[in-house]
Amino acid sequence: MKRDYYEVLGVSKNATKDEIKKAYRKLSKQYHPDINKEPGADEKFKEIAEAYEVLSDDTKRAQYDQFGHAGANGQGGFGGGFCDFGGFGGFEDIFSSFFGGSSRRRDPNDPRKGDDLQYRMNISFEDAVFGKQTEIEIPRDETCDTCNGTGAKPGTSPKTCTQCNGSGQISQAIDTPLGRIVNRRTCGTCQGTGKIIVDKCTTCSGKGVVQKRKKIKITIPEGVDDGQQLRVSGQGEPGINGGPPGDLYIVFRIGKHPYFERDGDDIYYDLKITFPQAALGDEIEVPTIHGKVKLKIPAGTQSGAQFRIKDKGVKNIHGYGRGHQYVNVKVVTPTKLTERQKQLLREFAEISGDIPEEQGSSFFEKFKKTFKGE
Ligand SMILES: [Zn+2]
Ligand SMILES: [Zn+2]
Repeated sequence: MKRDYYEVLGVSKNATKDEIKKAYRKLSKQYHPDINKEPGADEKFKEIAEAYEVLSDDTKRAQYDQFGHAGANGQGGFGGGFCDFGGFGGFEDIFSSFFGGSSRRRDPNDPRKGDDLQYRMNISFEDAVFGKQTEIEIPRDETCDTCNGTGAKPGTSPKTCTQCNGSGQISQAIDTPLGRIVNRRTCGTCQGTGKIIVDKCTTCSGKGVVQKRKKIKITIPEGVDDGQQLRVSGQGEPGINGGPPGDLYIVFRIGKHPYFERDGDDIYYDLKITFPQAALGDEIEVPTIHGKVKLKIPAGTQSGAQFRIKDKGVKNIHGYGRGHQYVNVKVVTPTKLTERQKQLLREFAEISGDIPEEQGSSFFEKFKKTFKGE
């Protein structure tokens, strides 16, 4: 279960950017893995960095406030827009920009988190509304079983790169009139890995990973909306040097429905009624996503009127009840009339006699006056 980001930083929901920054500064120093050697400090530090990454960014914060990271089966959090929650892996980057660059150079042999993967999933209108257990198959790199990810043939092991002595970087000192400058660049011999594989593993050609299609069970959360994403933690690319795997982000694309239109948790439905139904009123069966519902059309209903059927919309993904269904009424004018029908309509017109004000002569008088500016 993920903790609330505000709680992680120990700030209130209305904390200012400054307060958030201060809290982050204090906590990240307290739990930084270089300083704090207590067990769990590393995890805590990552949690703090993740919370800060979201709360320090106006867009991400707004999305977090709106969607939270509630998700089904502990699968992780939701993001609103596309790519916005693309990865929390960059906590080192926050760290280095924050403390003005880490003095500790990163060792290529340090464990690193695997890359995050993003997967677009097209789902039907119904599956988005009601949720579903399903399985997806994604191609992704997995640690090679033959060499356990080392890339070296079983029985052999990678040799330390002699060019850079395993550091993955080449330092070059240049004396200038202003003093000595040390240039660092990635070692070209080992591509920065610090290792040379002499006998390559034949299964993965020395890459240490093989591409596999992996089946993953996921739960489409009930009420998920177009563009929202689900984080499935630990299902991204494998980690490097024994680091944790990245996460998988599933972005949902939701199909259209032939009759219903969805806007957030609300559903819109166009209902055609006849003129007698509009004039005299009626009770009509209307489809909703939760089955048929009887809708009372009051006498004298105008075309364009909207009725609300309470709680017949989509269940809110974060448990805030259900949306509503809105029914937009359109009065249909008959096009094919029999002689008898025409006769009755003429009679009707004659008896009723009332024509809308806009068609009367007094209206045109008024209209002429306003038009002339009198
Ligand atoms: Zn291999
Ligand atoms: Zn090297």
